[in-house]
Amino acid sequence: MQVHVVGNACVDTTFRLCRFPAPGETLNAIAYADGLGGKGANQAVAAARTGASVTLWTALGKDSAGAWIRSRLDRELPDIQANEFDLPSDRSTIVIDAGGENFIVSGVACCEAFDPTSQTALAHRLAPGDILVMQGNLRGAATNACLRAARENGARTVLNASPIDAAALPDFGLAEVLVVNQNEATALSCRGDMAAAADSLAAKGAGTVVITLGAEGCLVVGSGQTGSFRLPAPHVEVVDTSGAGDVFCGCLAGGLARKMSVRSALKLALAAAAIAVTRQGTLSSCPSASEMAALID
Ligand code: ADP
Repeated sequence: MQVHVVGNACVDTTFRLCRFPAPGETLNAIAYADGLGGKGANQAVAAARTGASVTLWTALGKDSAGAWIRSRLDRELPDIQANEFDLPSDRSTIVIDAGGENFIVSGVACCEAFDPTSQTALAHRLAPGDILVMQGNLRGAATNACLRAARENGARTVLNASPIDAAALPDFGLAEVLVVNQNEATALSCRGDMAAAADSLAAKGAGTVVITLGAEGCLVVGSGQTGSFRLPAPHVEVVDTSGAGDVFCGCLAGGLARKMSVRSALKLALAAAAIAVTRQGTLSSCPSASEMAALID
């Protein structure tokens, strides 16, 4: 069973500073580095490290950044289907101060132009039992078209509705599994209580709603066999939580592709995300393939 991740890939440039600059001020960074980023890329890599067979469908600019992103993806994924645009590749600048606070500025031209359904190959490649994984970066209509194609082909769908674009929300009824964090659950349901939020999201049509609860693990409200339950997260010393949600979603999809039950795939996702939060960075914090194998055995 193939995991198809349709989503963004970008260059994340991280600057570490003593403090944030004031408007008009220039500061030299203590350290800075480029890294592969984008929720689509992150989740595809996490899924692949579970041992699942993964295809990433993404959008790149025909520029040096696009070539760089491609070279990094090639190290991780055997199958990359990239739409190429005469646009600057997507990139984020992440600025982190000494206290660990950050701000992020993103350029998303390729993501906005990306219409994955124009890659007719996607519809042809989605087979019964495959897993389609999407996030909130693409336009709502494009996301819906992919989810619909998956459902029509008998593929399963995992939607991580993050980030949220309130003006263009995907149709949650097309998601077999909907994953959101607490902030997203509150924003989407207008409920502060997570059990109520999950019920409200389930009422919008998602088959199973998973709300990630940080150190508290996750809350699941599912129909049919899955049922409703909470799963705890392993207790760990946190270093950096960025990217934990992507590790969680990628591993959930990878586990499903490996024919695990939703519950077992969620346990794998929790274990892998707990490792990720003990390390610095986004993709660099994702457990390796051998670490994943140890979690699965
Ligand atoms: P996001 O990172 O998207 O904001 P969460 O904070 O809910 O979402 O984290 C996603 C997942 O990462 C959690 O469900 C959990 O598995 C893991 N995680 C996050 N923080 C911790 C923590 N302090 N200890 C263990 N696991 C954590």
